[in-house]
Amino acid sequence: MKVVEYERSLQWVGHLHCPTCQHDNLSWRSSSMSEAFPHFYCSHCSNVYLERQVQELVYYEATPALLAQIGATLPPCICGGHFTPTASPKCTVCHHEVPLVLDPVQHLQDPNMVVLDGACVLYDQGEPYQVRIIS
Ligand SMILES: [Zn+2]
Ligand SMILES: [Zn+2]
Repeated sequence: MKVVEYERSLQWVGHLHCPTCQHDNLSWRSSSMSEAFPHFYCSHCSNVYLERQVQELVYYEATPALLAQIGATLPPCICGGHFTPTASPKCTVCHHEVPLVLDPVQHLQDPNMVVLDGACVLYDQGEPYQVRIIS
């Protein structure tokens, strides 16, 4: 798989704090300008799935009905888990979920996709890639 490297010093590289073990997970966060929505995390790992083809459905309004419609067609993840509307990334140390997705309906319009160091971004259109954060 293609690997995309981001330098630690970049503006969009930061830390996803784990409330369970207090570890700060290195991560890349897409800017609001990127319109990286809707995106969904895997039930099992921290991979992210970006479904561009349904963006126009939720562009102006996100509703529980749209969430149910889109959520029903999400694909499996390459790890064997499944992308779901309620999953969040997992801490790399204690493996607990770091609660990013608090409201799955609102999350449909969230352009700030958080990708942990080593996690993969999968698309409905285009090549998947793995994010690596380098110093
Ligand atoms: Zn943790
Ligand atoms: Zn997965």
